[in-house]
Amino acid sequence: MNSPFHLGLTGHPLGHSLSPKIHAAALKACGLRGDYSLFPIHPDDRQGLAALLARVRRGELHGLNVTIPHKQNVIPFLDELTPTAQAIGAVNTIYRHESKLVGHNTDAAGFLADLKRTLPSVFRPPRSALILGAGGAARSVVYSLLADGWNATLAARRIEQAEQLASTIFNTQLSIASFADLHSASADFSRFSLIVNATPLGMSPDVERSPLPKGVMISSTTAIYDLLYNPRQTRLVSDALAWGCLAVTGLGMLIEQAALAFEVWTGCNPPRVSLRAAVE
Ligand code: NAP
Repeated sequence: MNSPFHLGLTGHPLGHSLSPKIHAAALKACGLRGDYSLFPIHPDDRQGLAALLARVRRGELHGLNVTIPHKQNVIPFLDELTPTAQAIGAVNTIYRHESKLVGHNTDAAGFLADLKRTLPSVFRPPRSALILGAGGAARSVVYSLLADGWNATLAARRIEQAEQLASTIFNTQLSIASFADLHSASADFSRFSLIVNATPLGMSPDVERSPLPKGVMISSTTAIYDLLYNPRQTRLVSDALAWGCLAVTGLGMLIEQAALAFEVWTGCNPPRVSLRAAVE
Protein backbone atom coordinates (compact mmCIF):
# COMPACT_ATOMS: atom_id res chain seq x y z
CA MET A 1 0.00 0.00 0.00
CA ASN A 2 1.30 3.49 -0.87
CA SER A 3 2.32 5.80 2.00
CA PRO A 4 -0.05 8.66 2.88
CA PHE A 5 0.30 12.20 1.54
CA HIS A 6 0.13 14.87 4.23
CA LEU A 7 -1.00 18.11 2.56
CA GLY A 8 -2.44 21.40 3.76
CA LEU A 9 -3.15 25.09 3.43
CA THR A 10 -1.87 28.11 5.33
CA GLY A 11 -3.38 31.60 5.35
CA HIS A 12 -5.60 33.70 7.61
CA PRO A 13 -8.52 33.42 8.06
CA LEU A 14 -9.24 29.93 6.70
CA GLY A 15 -12.64 29.20 8.22
CA HIS A 16 -14.58 29.02 4.94
CA SER A 17 -11.93 27.35 2.79
CA LEU A 18 -13.22 24.82 0.25
CA SER A 19 -9.72 23.39 -0.28
CA PRO A 20 -10.02 20.47 2.23
CA LYS A 21 -13.08 19.16 0.35
CA ILE A 22 -11.42 19.58 -3.05
CA HIS A 23 -8.22 17.82 -2.02
CA ALA A 24 -10.04 15.04 -0.17
CA ALA A 25 -11.92 14.38 -3.42
CA ALA A 26 -8.64 14.44 -5.36
CA LEU A 27 -7.03 11.89 -3.01
CA LYS A 28 -10.06 9.62 -3.34
CA ALA A 29 -10.32 9.96 -7.13
CA CYS A 30 -6.61 9.14 -7.50
CA GLY A 31 -6.82 6.17 -5.10
CA LEU A 32 -4.28 7.74 -2.72
CA ARG A 33 -4.22 7.81 1.06
CA GLY A 34 -3.64 11.08 2.87
CA ASP A 35 -5.07 14.18 4.46
CA TYR A 36 -5.33 17.93 3.85
CA SER A 37 -5.20 20.12 6.98
CA LEU A 38 -5.73 23.81 7.61
CA PHE A 39 -2.88 25.73 9.27
CA PRO A 40 -4.19 29.23 10.07
CA ILE A 41 -1.28 31.56 10.83
CA HIS A 42 -1.82 35.15 11.90
CA PRO A 43 -0.45 37.78 9.46
CA ASP A 44 2.19 38.92 12.01
CA ASP A 45 3.31 35.44 13.10
CA ARG A 46 6.57 34.99 11.19
CA GLN A 47 7.78 32.34 13.66
CA GLY A 48 4.64 30.30 13.10
CA LEU A 49 5.17 30.47 9.34
CA ALA A 50 8.84 29.48 9.70
CA ALA A 51 7.90 26.50 11.92
CA LEU A 52 5.28 25.30 9.42
CA LEU A 53 7.70 25.56 6.49
CA ALA A 54 10.29 23.64 8.52
CA ARG A 55 7.78 20.77 8.63
CA VAL A 56 7.65 20.75 4.82
CA ARG A 57 11.46 20.82 4.72
CA ARG A 58 11.63 17.81 7.07
CA GLY A 59 9.19 15.91 4.86
CA GLU A 60 6.44 15.77 7.51
CA LEU A 61 4.20 17.65 5.07
CA HIS A 62 4.41 16.71 1.39
CA GLY A 63 2.70 19.80 0.04
CA LEU A 64 1.43 23.14 1.26
CA ASN A 65 -0.94 25.64 -0.35
CA VAL A 66 -0.63 29.29 0.58
CA THR A 67 -3.34 31.93 0.52
CA ILE A 68 -3.95 35.50 1.74
CA PRO A 69 -2.00 37.02 3.49
CA HIS A 70 1.07 34.79 3.09
CA LYS A 71 1.55 34.43 -0.69
CA GLN A 72 4.49 36.83 -0.56
CA ASN A 73 5.40 36.36 3.14
CA VAL A 74 6.57 32.77 2.50
CA ILE A 75 9.12 33.72 -0.18
CA PRO A 76 12.06 34.54 2.18
CA PHE A 77 11.74 31.05 3.73
CA LEU A 78 12.05 29.21 0.39
CA ASP A 79 15.20 28.04 -1.44
CA GLU A 80 13.86 28.38 -4.99
CA LEU A 81 10.95 29.78 -6.95
CA THR A 82 9.70 28.27 -10.19
CA PRO A 83 9.90 30.71 -13.14
CA THR A 84 6.11 31.28 -12.90
CA ALA A 85 6.20 32.11 -9.19
CA GLN A 86 9.23 34.32 -9.78
CA ALA A 87 7.47 36.24 -12.56
CA ILE A 88 4.24 36.67 -10.60
CA GLY A 89 6.01 37.46 -7.33
CA ALA A 90 3.66 35.26 -5.30
CA VAL A 91 3.53 31.61 -4.21
CA ASN A 92 0.43 29.46 -3.70
CA THR A 93 2.03 26.00 -3.78
CA ILE A 94 5.10 24.73 -1.88
CA TYR A 95 6.86 21.40 -2.25
CA ARG A 96 10.22 19.82 -1.42
CA HIS A 97 12.61 18.85 -4.20
CA GLU A 98 15.96 17.21 -3.32
CA SER A 99 15.85 18.73 0.19
CA LYS A 100 15.11 22.20 -1.21
CA LEU A 101 11.88 24.08 -0.55
CA VAL A 102 10.36 25.24 -3.82
CA GLY A 103 7.64 27.87 -4.28
CA HIS A 104 5.31 27.59 -7.28
CA ASN A 105 2.18 29.38 -8.45
CA THR A 106 -0.79 27.56 -9.99
CA ASP A 107 -3.25 30.50 -9.85
CA ALA A 108 -2.21 31.84 -13.27
CA ALA A 109 -2.48 28.51 -15.09
CA GLY A 110 -5.66 27.73 -13.13
CA PHE A 111 -7.27 30.99 -14.23
CA LEU A 112 -6.34 30.55 -17.89
CA ALA A 113 -7.47 26.90 -17.97
CA ASP A 114 -10.86 27.79 -16.50
CA LEU A 115 -11.23 30.81 -18.79
CA LYS A 116 -10.65 28.52 -21.80
CA ARG A 117 -13.17 26.01 -20.43
CA THR A 118 -15.93 28.46 -19.49
CA LEU A 119 -15.54 31.34 -21.97
CA PRO A 120 -13.79 29.91 -25.05
CA SER A 121 -15.24 32.57 -27.36
CA VAL A 122 -13.18 35.34 -25.68
CA PHE A 123 -10.04 33.82 -27.18
CA ARG A 124 -11.02 35.18 -30.61
CA PRO A 125 -9.51 38.60 -31.47
CA PRO A 126 -9.44 41.36 -30.21
CA ARG A 127 -8.48 39.62 -26.90
CA SER A 128 -8.53 42.83 -24.94
CA ALA A 129 -9.06 42.58 -21.16
CA LEU A 130 -9.80 44.98 -18.32
CA ILE A 131 -8.66 43.68 -14.93
CA LEU A 132 -10.19 45.29 -11.84
CA GLY A 133 -7.89 45.28 -8.79
CA ALA A 134 -4.11 45.06 -8.51
CA GLY A 135 -3.53 42.65 -5.60
CA GLY A 136 -2.15 39.11 -5.56
CA ALA A 137 -4.87 37.53 -7.70
CA ALA A 138 -4.65 40.33 -10.28
CA ARG A 139 -0.92 39.60 -10.62
CA SER A 140 -1.69 36.01 -11.66
CA VAL A 141 -4.47 37.08 -14.04
CA VAL A 142 -2.34 39.76 -15.70
CA TYR A 143 0.62 37.40 -15.99
CA SER A 144 -1.43 34.64 -17.61
CA LEU A 145 -3.23 36.95 -20.06
CA LEU A 146 -0.09 38.78 -21.16
CA ALA A 147 1.79 35.49 -21.56
CA ASP A 148 -1.12 34.34 -23.75
CA GLY A 149 -0.81 37.40 -25.98
CA TRP A 150 -3.68 39.54 -24.70
CA ASN A 151 -3.83 43.32 -24.46
CA ALA A 152 -4.52 44.16 -20.85
CA THR A 153 -5.61 47.25 -18.92
CA LEU A 154 -5.30 47.21 -15.15
CA ALA A 155 -7.62 49.40 -13.08
CA ALA A 156 -6.88 49.98 -9.40
CA ARG A 157 -8.10 52.42 -6.79
CA ARG A 158 -4.48 53.06 -5.80
CA ILE A 159 -2.71 53.84 -9.04
CA GLU A 160 0.72 53.26 -7.43
CA GLN A 161 -0.26 49.63 -6.73
CA ALA A 162 -1.09 49.14 -10.42
CA GLU A 163 2.15 50.83 -11.46
CA GLN A 164 4.13 48.61 -9.13
CA LEU A 165 2.48 45.52 -10.62
CA ALA A 166 3.13 46.77 -14.15
CA SER A 167 6.79 47.47 -13.41
CA THR A 168 7.37 43.87 -12.33
CA ILE A 169 5.27 42.04 -14.95
CA PHE A 170 5.90 42.67 -18.67
CA ASN A 171 5.94 46.42 -18.09
CA THR A 172 5.38 47.65 -21.64
CA GLN A 173 2.26 45.72 -22.68
CA LEU A 174 0.08 46.79 -19.77
CA SER A 175 -2.10 49.91 -19.72
CA ILE A 176 -3.13 51.40 -16.41
CA ALA A 177 -6.34 53.12 -15.34
CA SER A 178 -7.68 54.31 -12.02
CA PHE A 179 -11.05 53.36 -10.60
CA ALA A 180 -11.92 57.06 -10.96
CA ASP A 181 -11.36 56.77 -14.75
CA LEU A 182 -13.94 53.98 -14.85
CA HIS A 183 -16.48 56.24 -13.16
CA SER A 184 -16.03 59.08 -15.67
CA ALA A 185 -18.78 59.70 -18.24
CA SER A 186 -16.36 58.95 -21.09
CA ALA A 187 -15.41 55.49 -19.77
CA ASP A 188 -15.72 53.05 -22.68
CA PHE A 189 -16.05 49.40 -21.67
CA SER A 190 -17.05 48.20 -25.14
CA ARG A 191 -13.42 48.01 -26.30
CA PHE A 192 -12.83 45.15 -23.85
CA SER A 193 -13.78 41.62 -24.85
CA LEU A 194 -13.24 40.50 -21.25
CA ILE A 195 -13.59 42.13 -17.83
CA VAL A 196 -12.04 40.29 -14.85
CA ASN A 197 -12.94 41.18 -11.28
CA ALA A 198 -9.92 40.65 -9.02
CA THR A 199 -11.22 42.75 -6.12
CA PRO A 200 -13.24 41.42 -3.16
CA LEU A 201 -16.18 43.66 -4.12
CA GLY A 202 -19.32 41.51 -4.06
CA MET A 203 -17.93 38.82 -1.79
CA SER A 204 -20.19 37.47 0.95
CA PRO A 205 -21.55 39.08 3.14
CA ASP A 206 -21.34 42.23 0.95
CA VAL A 207 -23.23 40.49 -1.82
CA GLU A 208 -25.01 43.56 -3.23
CA ARG A 209 -21.75 45.29 -4.21
CA SER A 210 -20.29 45.31 -7.70
CA PRO A 211 -16.85 46.53 -8.77
CA LEU A 212 -18.41 48.35 -11.75
CA PRO A 213 -19.80 51.89 -11.39
CA LYS A 214 -23.52 52.14 -10.56
CA GLY A 215 -25.73 52.62 -13.62
CA VAL A 216 -23.16 51.30 -16.10
CA MET A 217 -24.31 48.80 -18.73
CA ILE A 218 -21.85 46.51 -20.45
CA SER A 219 -22.36 45.50 -24.07
CA SER A 220 -23.16 41.83 -24.68
CA THR A 221 -19.94 41.54 -26.72
CA THR A 222 -17.95 41.77 -23.46
CA ALA A 223 -17.66 38.70 -21.21
CA ILE A 224 -17.20 38.81 -17.44
CA TYR A 225 -15.00 36.56 -15.28
CA ASP A 226 -15.50 37.24 -11.56
CA LEU A 227 -12.77 35.60 -9.48
CA LEU A 228 -15.12 35.49 -6.49
CA TYR A 229 -16.95 32.22 -5.78
CA ASN A 230 -18.80 33.08 -2.57
CA PRO A 231 -21.67 33.69 -3.33
CA ARG A 232 -21.83 31.27 -6.27
CA GLN A 233 -23.51 33.99 -8.35
CA THR A 234 -22.19 37.46 -7.57
CA ARG A 235 -23.99 40.73 -8.20
CA LEU A 236 -21.57 41.45 -11.05
CA VAL A 237 -22.35 38.14 -12.72
CA SER A 238 -26.12 38.45 -12.31
CA ASP A 239 -26.01 42.02 -13.70
CA ALA A 240 -23.88 40.85 -16.63
CA LEU A 241 -26.21 37.96 -17.43
CA ALA A 242 -29.12 40.43 -17.39
CA TRP A 243 -27.22 42.60 -19.92
CA GLY A 244 -26.86 39.54 -22.19
CA CYS A 245 -23.15 39.03 -21.49
CA LEU A 246 -21.43 35.69 -20.94
CA ALA A 247 -20.41 35.68 -17.26
CA VAL A 248 -18.92 33.22 -14.77
CA THR A 249 -17.62 33.18 -11.19
CA GLY A 250 -14.30 31.78 -9.99
CA LEU A 251 -15.14 28.35 -8.59
CA GLY A 252 -13.63 26.74 -11.68
CA MET A 253 -10.36 28.62 -11.15
CA LEU A 254 -10.28 27.47 -7.52
CA ILE A 255 -10.70 23.87 -8.66
CA GLU A 256 -8.09 24.17 -11.44
CA GLN A 257 -5.41 25.76 -9.23
CA ALA A 258 -6.04 23.03 -6.62
CA ALA A 259 -5.84 20.24 -9.21
CA LEU A 260 -2.57 21.61 -10.62
CA ALA A 261 -1.05 21.85 -7.10
CA PHE A 262 -2.25 18.31 -6.31
CA GLU A 263 -0.54 17.00 -9.45
CA VAL A 264 2.73 18.70 -8.49
CA TRP A 265 2.65 16.97 -5.07
CA THR A 266 1.38 13.51 -5.99
CA GLY A 267 1.98 13.05 -9.73
CA CYS A 268 -1.73 12.31 -10.21
CA ASN A 269 -3.88 14.60 -12.39
CA PRO A 270 -7.27 14.39 -10.65
CA PRO A 271 -10.52 14.33 -12.65
CA ARG A 272 -12.08 17.81 -12.39
CA VAL A 273 -15.58 16.38 -12.32
CA SER A 274 -14.88 14.69 -8.96
CA LEU A 275 -13.44 17.88 -7.47
CA ARG A 276 -16.38 19.95 -8.71
CA ALA A 277 -18.88 17.45 -7.28
CA ALA A 278 -17.21 17.80 -3.87
CA VAL A 279 -18.00 21.51 -3.64
CA GLU A 280 -21.27 21.86 -5.55
P1 NAP B 1 -5.71 41.32 -2.41
O1 NAP B 1 -4.29 40.98 -2.63
O2 NAP B 1 -6.17 41.81 -1.09
O3 NAP B 1 -6.12 42.40 -3.55
C1 NAP B 1 -7.42 42.94 -3.65
C2 NAP B 1 -7.42 44.09 -4.65
O4 NAP B 1 -8.73 44.65 -4.67
C3 NAP B 1 -6.46 45.22 -4.27
O5 NAP B 1 -5.99 45.87 -5.43
C4 NAP B 1 -7.39 46.14 -3.47
O6 NAP B 1 -6.96 47.48 -3.40
C5 NAP B 1 -8.65 46.04 -4.32
N1 NAP B 1 -9.80 46.48 -3.57
C6 NAP B 1 -10.22 46.06 -2.35
N2 NAP B 1 -11.32 46.73 -1.97
C7 NAP B 1 -11.60 47.61 -2.97
C8 NAP B 1 -12.59 48.60 -3.17
N3 NAP B 1 -13.54 48.81 -2.25
N4 NAP B 1 -12.56 49.34 -4.30
C9 NAP B 1 -11.60 49.14 -5.23
N5 NAP B 1 -10.62 48.21 -5.10
C10 NAP B 1 -10.62 47.47 -3.98
O7 NAP B 1 -6.64 40.05 -2.71
P2 NAP B 1 -6.38 38.95 -3.86
O8 NAP B 1 -5.58 37.83 -3.34
O9 NAP B 1 -5.89 39.66 -5.07
O10 NAP B 1 -7.86 38.39 -4.07
C11 NAP B 1 -8.88 39.20 -4.66
C12 NAP B 1 -10.17 38.41 -4.69
O11 NAP B 1 -10.03 37.32 -5.61
C13 NAP B 1 -10.48 37.80 -3.32
O12 NAP B 1 -11.76 38.18 -2.92
C14 NAP B 1 -10.35 36.32 -3.52
O13 NAP B 1 -11.38 35.59 -2.86
C15 NAP B 1 -10.47 36.12 -5.02
N6 NAP B 1 -9.60 35.03 -5.48
C16 NAP B 1 -10.18 33.98 -6.10
C17 NAP B 1 -9.39 32.94 -6.56
C18 NAP B 1 -10.03 31.75 -7.23
O14 NAP B 1 -9.38 30.69 -7.30
N7 NAP B 1 -11.23 31.87 -7.76
C19 NAP B 1 -8.00 32.97 -6.37
C20 NAP B 1 -7.44 34.08 -5.75
C21 NAP B 1 -8.26 35.11 -5.30
P3 NAP B 1 -6.30 48.00 -2.04
O15 NAP B 1 -4.97 47.32 -1.93
O16 NAP B 1 -6.24 49.45 -2.24
O17 NAP B 1 -7.24 47.57 -0.92
